Amino acid sequence: ATTDERPTVMSRFNVKKVAVLGAGVMGAQIAAHLVNVKVPVVLFDLPAKEGPKNGIVTKAVEGLKKLKPAPLGVAEDAALIQPANYEEHLARLSECDLVIEAIAERMDWKLDLYRKIAPHVAPHAIVASNTSGLSITRLSEALPEALKPRFCGIHFFNPPRYMYLVELIATPSTRAEILDDLETFVTSGLGKGVVRAKDTPNFIANRVGIAGMLATMKEVEKFGLSYDVVDDLTGKKLGRASSGTFRTADVVGLDTMAHVIKTLQDTLSADTDPFYGSFGTPPVLKKLLELGHLGQKAKAGFYKKV
Ligand code: NAD
Repeated sequence: ATTDERPTVMSRFNVKKVAVLGAGVMGAQIAAHLVNVKVPVVLFDLPAKEGPKNGIVTKAVEGLKKLKPAPLGVAEDAALIQPANYEEHLARLSECDLVIEAIAERMDWKLDLYRKIAPHVAPHAIVASNTSGLSITRLSEALPEALKPRFCGIHFFNPPRYMYLVELIATPSTRAEILDDLETFVTSGLGKGVVRAKDTPNFIANRVGIAGMLATMKEVEKFGLSYDVVDDLTGKKLGRASSGTFRTADVVGLDTMAHVIKTLQDTLSADTDPFYGSFGTPPVLKKLLELGHLGQKAKAGFYKKV
């Protein structure tokens, strides 16, 4: 027996440490999953005074400890989960074999961050974005040429500790071995299932999924149906493990949903794609966004108490 139970599944790409950028809904849980499989993580977010959501990092790290079932090793590895002002601590990126970017779904913020991290990333490391559907190729444009072959999309699903699917997305510059190595880590190391998706708006699962969710929201508004009943019908009573349309939206975050819709609106027109190109944000979603009812993370969304 060995005392070091870290996955040693990689022949060419041995992941000894991962940096997760963004400690929100996804980043915190991706970090938790990595800690669970004994991969040390350095978790970065903005310092509270600059961050769009003050105190979210502290909450995320505290949240990691409260998750049920508790992530293995959080207590012992807590020191490795570091909320950090990334401007001051970026040098720590050079310790990491994989950098997963999971900051808010804003192209401009991600591009800005990539410019800042690029000089600190180790020469062998893979950098991957957890974007829900922004163009991976467009994101890669902020990176120096030397890093582009080691950049791709790694799209986890929410909640990432439990959802099996991960989409991997290459750009025309991504080296084939990089994607193969990452797939080995995601499958053998993290116990997930990989689908390779093309770099199309919202990739595969979100492209299809958002259509169903928006159609359901519109019909619910039209017929004055109750969220509970529809969630039953689109979730448990259909035999699905998922919690139905509206609870899922609250878990995803209504701001993130709005960004996913915007990606469709920005990239597909009603002329070239009559189905997706004509999608709008349902009025009920607009109203909740105005109220700041962003779902579970704001403790209010479609459901008052999520
Ligand atoms: P979130 O709003 O919960 O968290 C984003 C975090 O990023 C915040 O804590 C914020 O302070 C931090 N941040 C912003 N700018 C930063 C910077 N420059 N450096 C470090 N941290 C920064 O968002 P989320 O739901 O976790 O989504 C993160 C990414 O994952 C997005 O690209 C989103 O589209 C994608 N995603 C989300 C879901 C979902 O269901 N929520 C699912 C799959 C993928």
